[in-house]
This record gives sequence, C-alpha cells and structure tokens, in this order.
Amino acid sequence: MTLSGATESDRLGDWSETDWFDLSHLLGVPAGNALLSQRDGDYVRVPLPEHRKGMARQIGIALERIAIPNQVHDNNIELAVAGKVHKRTDGLFTADPSVVLSLQVADCAPVFFHHSGSGYRGLVHAGWRGLAAGVLVEGAGFLTAQGVDLDQVQVAIGPTIEMVCYEVGREVVERFPATVWRSNAQGRYQLDLVAASQEQLSAAGIPEENIRSVGVCTVCDSRCHSYRRDGERAGRMVAFYRDGISAQHG
Ligand SMILES: [Zn+2]
Repeated sequence: MTLSGATESDRLGDWSETDWFDLSHLLGVPAGNALLSQRDGDYVRVPLPEHRKGMARQIGIALERIAIPNQVHDNNIELAVAGKVHKRTDGLFTADPSVVLSLQVADCAPVFFHHSGSGYRGLVHAGWRGLAAGVLVEGAGFLTAQGVDLDQVQVAIGPTIEMVCYEVGREVVERFPATVWRSNAQGRYQLDLVAASQEQLSAAGIPEENIRSVGVCTVCDSRCHSYRRDGERAGRMVAFYRDGISAQHG
C-alpha cells in the first residue's frame, strides 16, 4: 500500500486498494495517525460498514478499537467507546490511546482536534447543518469540560466542498455570518464551509493560527468522493484517527 501526503498521492488507476490523505502534519502528530480514505470503486458493491472494515484492515487497525458515529448532521458530541456505534452523534473525542476515532464524509468537512498535553483527540463531522447547529462549538466545549486549554488545541480541516462549488439557497446562508458566504450572479449563494468552520472554532476559543485546512475541494479533486458531484451513487470517504502507529503499519 501507499500512504502518502495529499500532494503526492494521485494513483487513480488502481482501485483495488484505498489511498489516503494524511492530515497528521497539520496537527503536529506522527504521519499515519490522522487519515482519510480516498475515492475508490468499492462503494458500488460493498455496503459502508464492510467497506470501513476493509479499509481498517489495510492499515492494520483492529475493528474492536474503532468508535463509529451514526451521523445525523446535528451537534451531539460523545466520549468515544471502542467498538461502539454511537447513535445520533456527529463528533467523538477520546484521550485513550487504544481508541481509534472514525467518521464518514462526502463533501462535509472532517475536522480533527489534537491536544498534546492531555492526549485528547477529536473527530467531528461538519456540514452546513452541523455547523448551523454549532457542532464545532460543542466539540470545543467538550474539550473545555475535560479541562483542556483551548489555546493549545490544534485543528485540521480535511477535504470538503469549497466555496466556488457550493451553491446553496437563502435558507442556508441566513444561518451563517455574512463573512462566510456571498451572493452569486444566479441570485443564489456560495457558502464557504472552511471559513465557517474557522470562524466557529476561533469564536469558541481556539487560536486562528492553530486551525489549518488541507485546501482540497471534494468536488474538483477526483481523489475525493462528492455527493454534490456524484449524487446518490456517491461513495463515502472514511476517516480514521489513531494515536501511535501499530507495528505492522508501513
Ligand atoms: Zn471545487
């Protein structure tokens, strides 16, 4: 397998194995810890839970270590439990190095949190509905409740649908500050999910300089699954966020 950074991984011809975006460098954690699967062909014939298992095996993650959120585009955050499917949850946090966080996305942003002092990690699913419901504020609040100093928290925003590709209606943008959207020539609106995420995180108390985006648009970049581009047939990219690298990794 290859496990390369976003800039060097471009092997679209081989769909037998998943390639990965590695966001670890944006968080200051070891390479291979904060991963998002790239587009592949399996979604056509394999249900997501089976697909997730196959991808976990590729990188040596034991299934019983994975905490899975059953995402509903809302703001519920939970303490992750290994092997559990968390009902109605869009963000999981843990300070337990044995727990692997996960989520699935296709245009919504996977948002990774890291606090080196406490060992807390977080993985939050942030689309417009979740952001409008304050899911990243809730995530930051969860850390504060654990005694984590938000000044020291690092955040990485993974591939998501970018502003130029994300046309939405008035009912969407009216939920956001005017600094994160603009009107277009068609009388509709372009929403910037990255800016909305950054605005929400910094308002919650995480320093702007600690918040980094990978800068990949899921619609434009063919390595990504995109619901806006592919509709009902769109697959899902799966994120895994682990602490440390297993011995068989590499
Ligand atoms: Zn785009």
